[in-house]
Amino acid sequence: MIAARILIVEDDRIVARDIQNQVSRMGHVVVGLSTSGEEAVRLAVHHQPDLVLMDIRLDGEMDGIEAARRIREAQRIPVVFLTAYANDEVVQRASRTEPFGYLLKPLEEPQMRTVIQMALYKQASDAKLRMSERRYAATLASIRDGVILCDRDGRVDFMNRVAEAMTGWTAAEAAGRPLTSVFVALDEETQEPQEDFSALVRRSGAHAPPERLSRLLPRGDTAAGRAGEDGTGGPGIAVEERCSAIIDDRGEVAGSVLVFSDLTQRRRVAEALRTAQADLAHAGRLTMMGELAAAVAHEVNQPLMAIVTNAGTCLQHLSHPEPDLGKTRAVAERIVRDAQRAGDVVRSIHALARRTPADPGWVDVNALIVETLALVRAELRRARITVETDLQAAPPWVHGDRVQLQQLILNLVMNAIEAMAAPDLPLRRLCVVTTSGDGGLAVRVEDSGSGLADTDPEVLFRALYTTKPDGLGMGLSISRSIVELHGGRLTASPGTQGGSVFEVVLPVAQGET
Ligand code: ADP
Repeated sequence: MIAARILIVEDDRIVARDIQNQVSRMGHVVVGLSTSGEEAVRLAVHHQPDLVLMDIRLDGEMDGIEAARRIREAQRIPVVFLTAYANDEVVQRASRTEPFGYLLKPLEEPQMRTVIQMALYKQASDAKLRMSERRYAATLASIRDGVILCDRDGRVDFMNRVAEAMTGWTAAEAAGRPLTSVFVALDEETQEPQEDFSALVRRSGAHAPPERLSRLLPRGDTAAGRAGEDGTGGPGIAVEERCSAIIDDRGEVAGSVLVFSDLTQRRRVAEALRTAQADLAHAGRLTMMGELAAAVAHEVNQPLMAIVTNAGTCLQHLSHPEPDLGKTRAVAERIVRDAQRAGDVVRSIHALARRTPADPGWVDVNALIVETLALVRAELRRARITVETDLQAAPPWVHGDRVQLQQLILNLVMNAIEAMAAPDLPLRRLCVVTTSGDGGLAVRVEDSGSGLADTDPEVLFRALYTTKPDGLGMGLSISRSIVELHGGRLTASPGTQGGSVFEVVLPVAQGET
């Protein structure tokens, strides 16, 4: 049972007391007793009761029906009429105030109990319904989609504000009109008028057919040609239409809900995303240009330094009163060779940036290693590094670009030399080994230098990563690009006796055709 706060309005005080006793016995609370309509309205405002038991005949100007009307209008408090007689005219007047029940005098407790309970249940379920309607109204008002509700004949029942804006009608204007006179939907592709979606749902019995893409022309305006704002040049508004049937208790279609999502914004965002991606690609190219410049600087540095050193030696020879022309010529030849190498390096980096081997051919890797070590002989001697080579690869050939492969080995050897620069290093040993096997040719460059500490070896290969004060951080990134371009792998790992190992594996099979 629902226990309620009740206001009793009855001009016969004895009857009023009697009702009060009965109501209290039922477990309800009587919040007030009134003998006139005016006072009843006042008390209802003041106490906000859950229910009013209202005699129709009252003292004073205002009868119970008028008092009930005012209470209902202002407070939505349910009223149950008490009456000794029920002639048609009175009942009709009373009915207009939507009473929650009638109690015939003399009042009997069981009847009263039932009517009060029914009234309270009805009030509770009405309140629930009103709340649920408010929820739907708030939802429909706040979503960005247009929503139109149609009755079973396809006439508009309701539309939310977004649908009003899209169709150009107010909900009140559109109410009762057939959907086809409210807007026209053209097939987005063919630009032909689409069938009335709600009629389609009713006819096919499909509960929720697949959505369709349309151009919505407001107010049934078929004057095509006025371009919408989604940049496609099509008329009207680009929308995605969805339609669902509303099914009643008997399982029959009682109406339909049409939902339109405006695609204009979505398409603008997609367009903006495309532009952003294009910008990003451009920025990526610019970054690559920066990396390219850094790469050229890095790779050309070694031959340039050699040229400067040899030029100095050359000048020294020439400053002797009787210069040894043979020696001077040899040094000058070295200058020419290094300058040519610098030019080759620039060309090969350019090719690398285009991701093509510049000048593919058969390269003897063992011979290339010997030649490369010769290039850095002076640096190795200055750094007091012993070099051990064990060039076992047989056959020693790989198919690729000679200059790029030389750059690769040179980078690994130069890094090894730099890793052994610390003055207090007990051992300075560079070991270069080649082996064949597993369908590939492996080159191991091992040093006894500072090692990789706890650094993740993969980090070393990132462009611009360097731990050296004057480093560019390009050597390993270029080296990996070269190896990958030749279909191989380049990895780093800790050495067997401290130091580190860089291992290149190049495929030999690929070029053997
Ligand atoms: P850079 O030599 O200009 O620093 P690299 O890309 O050649 O650029 O090398 C990146 C980093 O990898 C170096 O700064 C160094 O920290 C580390 N590294 C490279 N080779 C070795 C090596 N043989 N031993 C230890 N660390 C190395």
